[in-house]
Amino acid sequence: MSIATLTRADAPTDANWRLSGHCLDVDPDVMHPDPRDRHGNGQARSICNGCPVQTQCLADAVRARDYGGVRGGLTGAERRERYGQPKPKPCGTCQQKFTPRTRTQVNCGPCAKTLNRHRSPR
Ligand code: SF4
Ligand SMILES: [Zn+2]
Repeated sequence: MSIATLTRADAPTDANWRLSGHCLDVDPDVMHPDPRDRHGNGQARSICNGCPVQTQCLADAVRARDYGGVRGGLTGAERRERYGQPKPKPCGTCQQKFTPRTRTQVNCGPCAKTLNRHRSPR
């Protein structure tokens, strides 16, 4: 599943979808393995596999910025990596900290503007 397949319509409007989750009767500890426990994470993931509300569950976790446990077939670290807010980082040109709007943005806004001005032919 990619972010392209995740839309606003997937965000659940009520909590009833949870009742259809494969993990409903599973010990919550099973769905919250130690992040380094590969076997445990694989086990939790296999419970999500084929879960009828996987899309809603993932959308809900992303919206709530819930990075605990396996949800929607992804670990918390995977959800943060794919859908989390980019963290502030130093600009590749002026070294001042800025919050990138995309993960690939290297330069802060003002530096990007200046660089573009120099690049584009007049
Ligand atoms: S996708 Fe996984 S965590 Fe979410 S309801 Fe289904 S089994 Fe539970
Ligand atoms: Zn800069």
